[in-house]
Amino acid sequence: MAAYQPTIGLEIHAELKTQTKMFCRSKNDPFASEANVHICPVCMAHPGTLPVINGEAIRHVLKVGLALGSSLADYTEFDRKNYFYPDLPKGYQLSQYEYPLVSGGRLRDVEITRIHLEEDTASSIHDEATGTTVIDYNRAGVPLMELVTEPVITSSKQAGDFARELQLLLRYLGVSGANMEKGEMRVEANVSVRRADSPTGELGTKVEIKNLNSFRAMERAVEYELKRQEELLERGESVVQETRGWDEGKQVTFPQRVKEGSADYRYFPDPDLPSLKLSEIDAYAASNLRQDMPELPWERRSRYLSLGINVEDAEAYIRDTVLGDFFDAVSEGTDAESARLASNYISNDLVNLIRDTDARDTETKAEMPVSVDNFKKIMDMIRAKKISSRAAKDLLAMTAADGSDPEALASAHDLIQKDDIKQLEDVVETVLEQNPGVVSDFKAGKAAALEFLLGQCMKALRGAGDPNVLRQLLQSKMT
Ligand code: ADP
Ligand code: MG
Repeated sequence: MAAYQPTIGLEIHAELKTQTKMFCRSKNDPFASEANVHICPVCMAHPGTLPVINGEAIRHVLKVGLALGSSLADYTEFDRKNYFYPDLPKGYQLSQYEYPLVSGGRLRDVEITRIHLEEDTASSIHDEATGTTVIDYNRAGVPLMELVTEPVITSSKQAGDFARELQLLLRYLGVSGANMEKGEMRVEANVSVRRADSPTGELGTKVEIKNLNSFRAMERAVEYELKRQEELLERGESVVQETRGWDEGKQVTFPQRVKEGSADYRYFPDPDLPSLKLSEIDAYAASNLRQDMPELPWERRSRYLSLGINVEDAEAYIRDTVLGDFFDAVSEGTDAESARLASNYISNDLVNLIRDTDARDTETKAEMPVSVDNFKKIMDMIRAKKISSRAAKDLLAMTAADGSDPEALASAHDLIQKDDIKQLEDVVETVLEQNPGVVSDFKAGKAAALEFLLGQCMKALRGAGDPNVLRQLLQSKMT
């Protein structure tokens, strides 16, 4: 089989979180439990109504552009994209064609072509059993951003990493819930292959894949499609430019429709909306937008990696900001070594104490089971060698259970390490007296015997002895 070079370009839609819809004052609440309650004559396209641009939505998109190092438009306008579908009451979608709000920029080394603003359609709910479809217009007119990448992605993994990082960015900026399963974020993957030895380097014919409801589905669909296209070319056939769906059950892509060209939409500037000279509006100035920029996911990542936190833990803190904020709070003002110590106890012990671990990569974030103060007290005791790591784990569990003060718990449960040498000697002597057989084993050269005796001493001290001191005492008393 010849070698093929994969090419992928992504088109990602995200519903924006704003108070009201894109062009009217209906509440932006597409998941309201009751259908068709957040609607008005404007988003229901009654004759004679006029749209008004939502400035909050514009600021959201400009912020995304700013974070990606893109250029923000000086001038922008909205265009009508004409097509018929029951979920689109106006018969056209307000979108941006010639003058997107944002151009250029990059994320994870992938160049962004553009980001523009448009409105969402209503949701169609199909009932397979009866063959009927009902429509909920709560979503009609909700602000939607569309980000388009250049065709420069070369693997399904890179596509997945890009989409996951974008999701994080949208959440950090607070501009979208960006949940793929709920359809708040929708990824379409354009996929083509070309022979690696192609003399012109021209890209192959692309196929667009839709209905990808998770990052995993996206990665699988891209893998499947790359293989399908390679096999077609290998057989001497050609790839048809079309839109394909992803069948999650069968794990295959299937043809949906032959793609329409932009000419079919007869785009033209909407005569009801003003064009915007963005540079003349203060609220859209980069200097203003920069004011409430949070720390960005990649900035947080490099901060953690520079402390020497391992990659998996750093990613967990970036994804789950409750966990990340906790780490930040307990490691604030400490050195890198103390930060790594705290990170070890968070990632090995604390996460196990958090009940609904499964829900933690969605927006549902559990409460932290231990307070920042109590966690810091435990770390301080470890650093001062007052308690063993075994005792630290027990203390975490105890303070998680009832919120008690770890120092009081450590004294009450006798977990403070005994550095009183006399007491340690007493314990060692008792253990040696009680285990004459093991002592002769040790004298006969069995090294494991020492570890057994050490274990007995630790047990007698309930974990609160310094194992190094005990080992020395045992050895000196047996020789
Ligand atoms: P269309 O006019 O069909 O919408 P565009 O040129 O606007 O195509 O590109 C849409 C998306 O498809 C972009 O994300 C782009 O990166 C991607 N794309 C374009 N050509 C290819 C190709 N040959 N292979 C893979 N992706 C492509
Ligand atoms: Mg296009």
